Amino acid sequence: MELHLKPTIMNQLKLGWVGLGNMGNPMVLNLLKAQYEVTVFNRTKEKEKPLVIAGAKSAVSLNELLKNCDIIFTMLSNDAAVKEVFEGIDGLLNSENQGKTIINMSTVSPETSRHLNTICKQQQVHFIDAPVSGSVKPAQDGTLVILVGASHENFELAKPMFDVLGKIAIHVGEPGVASSAKLAINYLLGLNLQGLAETVLFAEKNGVSKQDMLNIINQGACGNGITTIKTPSILNDSFPAAFALKHLVKDLRLAKEAGLDSPLIQPLYDSYASAEKEGLGDQDVMAIISSLKGKEV
Ligand code: NAP
Repeated sequence: MELHLKPTIMNQLKLGWVGLGNMGNPMVLNLLKAQYEVTVFNRTKEKEKPLVIAGAKSAVSLNELLKNCDIIFTMLSNDAAVKEVFEGIDGLLNSENQGKTIINMSTVSPETSRHLNTICKQQQVHFIDAPVSGSVKPAQDGTLVILVGASHENFELAKPMFDVLGKIAIHVGEPGVASSAKLAINYLLGLNLQGLAETVLFAEKNGVSKQDMLNIINQGACGNGITTIKTPSILNDSFPAAFALKHLVKDLRLAKEAGLDSPLIQPLYDSYASAEKEGLGDQDVMAIISSLKGKEV
C-alpha cells in the first residue's frame, strides 16, 4: 500500500469499523465528519442505525466489510471479543484479507496483540496495536491519546486517521508495546479513582461535604483531569457508563497477568472486582465510590 499520501487521497481510503460501543460510536462519527467513507459492523445491529443515518454504510458480515475496505478498525470489549472477531470461523483472519490493514484500538493483553501481529504477518495483513487513553468525551471531541504499537511504515499510514480521532498519537514501539503502555496508564487511572473515592468518603465521615472536598481537590495540586471529569457524577450520585467498571477490572487483571506486582495492585484489583460482583460492572468506573460506601474507609 502506498505511503505518505496527501490528505485528500487519504480520505479516499475506505475504512471499516467493528465495535460500536461507548467508544466506537463517537469515534466513527468523527471519521465521517472528516469525510472518510466508513462501513460499520456491530454484533448488535441496532447500534449501527445512528451511524448509518450519519452517512456510514453497514456490512452484513465481516467478510463483506473486508471486501469493501482498505483499513479495518476494531473497538471491542476484551481479548475474547477481539479474538472472536479476528479468529472466529467468519472472522477477519478467515476471510480474503491480503494487503489489508487492521488496527485494534480495544484494550487487550500485550500477549494477544503480539499473537495477532504474528498471524497477520503470516497472512500479509498489516497489524497495528492502538489502544486509547481517554473516555467518551475525548472520543466525541477527537482528543484521545492514542498509543501505537506498529512498524514505522504502518504508523505513518494510520497517522492521518489517528489525527482525526485523537489529539496525539504516540508511537511507542512494535505491536504489544502499546498494549503494555495502556495497561500501565489504566493502573494509574484505577489508583486515581480509588484514591478520589476513598478521600471523599473519609472527608464526609468527618463532616466535610463532598462539594467542599471536591472543590479542595480540584482547586489544589491534587486535582487533575480525571478528578474534574468525575466530580459531577460524584455530586449527583449517578454513574452512567462512560468507561464501564467491568472494563477496568479486566485491565487490572491483564496488568497483573502481564507482571505488575506492586504493593497496591492486588488490593486495588480486589476493590474493583468486589464492586463488579456487587452488580456495578456496567456502571461507570466511578461507581467504585458506591461500593466503598458502607465499607470501612
Ligand atoms: P462497550 O461499550 O462495552 O462496547 C463493546 C463493543 O464490543 C460493542 O460493540 C460490543 O458489541 C462488542 N463486542 C463485545 N463482545 C463481542 C463479541 N464476542 N463479538 C463481537 N462484538 C463484541 O465498550 P467501550 O467502552 O466502547 O470500550 C471498548 C474498548 O475500549 C474496551 O477494550 C475498553 O477497555 C477500551 N476503552 C474504553 C474506554 C471508555 O472510556 N469506555 C476508554 C479507553 C479504552 P454489542 O454492541 O453487540 O454488545
